[in-house]
Amino acid sequence: MKIDRYNYPQQFGEDPEPLFSDIRSMILGGEYILTRHVAEFERAFADYIGVPHAAGLGSGTDALILALMAAGVGPGDGVITAANTFYATVAAIRLVGAVPELVDADEDTFLMHPDRLRETISTRTRAVIPVHLYGKINPMDRIMEIARACDLVVIEDAAQAHGASLKGKRAGAWGDIGCFSFHPSKNLAAAGDAGAVVTASPAYDEEIRIRRGLGQRGQNNHVLLGYNSKLDSIQARILLWKLPHLDAWNRRRREIAAAYRRRLGGLPIEFQSVEPGEEHAYHLFQIRVRERDRLLAHLQARGVDAVIRYPQPIHLQPAFADLPYRKGEFPVAEILARELLCLPLRPDFGESEIDHVVNAIREYY
Ligand SMILES: *Cc1c(COP(=O)(O)O)cnc(C)c1O
Repeated sequence: MKIDRYNYPQQFGEDPEPLFSDIRSMILGGEYILTRHVAEFERAFADYIGVPHAAGLGSGTDALILALMAAGVGPGDGVITAANTFYATVAAIRLVGAVPELVDADEDTFLMHPDRLRETISTRTRAVIPVHLYGKINPMDRIMEIARACDLVVIEDAAQAHGASLKGKRAGAWGDIGCFSFHPSKNLAAAGDAGAVVTASPAYDEEIRIRRGLGQRGQNNHVLLGYNSKLDSIQARILLWKLPHLDAWNRRRREIAAAYRRRLGGLPIEFQSVEPGEEHAYHLFQIRVRERDRLLAHLQARGVDAVIRYPQPIHLQPAFADLPYRKGEFPVAEILARELLCLPLRPDFGESEIDHVVNAIREYY
């Protein structure tokens, strides 16, 4: 039996023909750029997250870059984020000329430690990017309190957390700007690259729309430095087709995660904590184990598509070798890079897939 991490046909439902026929007429009819499909998806996604505005973009990385630009973050400014995040968060900070200020992870949540965050704020810090890694929302009530006290802009990296929530408020709706990716690996997946920002601020929304479209306000009136990163119309059509299913998919992800936690209980395995009032979106199901690479090889030999997310923390990546950080500086991020293993988890798993993964792990021990 092979247990893959993705099943794209299943995400389109039993009868995708109406969608394909729409896409066919879009292609033949020249409906390519910022059509009504993009506007419809932006409205639907803003409503889903619970914020007034959403702007569709070319990728999640562009969402972070444009959010930082709109927040006025530039050369010399400090931006705090997690030492164990995905590369794109920190690349975005550097691409606007700002300085990443890294914070170690918390051993229980696997997210940026709020106490360390407070200690890291410097005179140059302008913004903080909490990353809702693996689909778990950060303690946003605490983070907003710290950020407001120090006058920092909060940009959520919610690329892994579509639909995750804390106290009924969704990831992306807590900060000043929320950034999403619809890369095919994410819980809400386009058929290619795509992303979005959400915000309650009409000013941020307008500026991001101007900057995504070559800095134009109206045709040929270029008022700001922008580049070209618009959500593709066909991708918007596909995202509109899938969005109504996202909540049910996330519910099923939580059921499967609960089964993994229950059935792997008693083994020397630790899990990401779940706080009261929180709904995890389980973009990734991470287990923390010793001898991680041996277990990985065992699972792969049994057809289980487990992977390492992520094998190197930010401060040990070659691209960031010029940052003033040493090995050993973020011990928890380094331990997590050595010990986390990501198990396959798809909303369409039945009992037999869960059984196969659980049995393969139990067999190892
Ligand atoms: C996927 C991801 C991104 C980047 O999104 P792209 O659409 O691939 O550019 C940024 N941050 C995190 C945490 C991600 O998982």
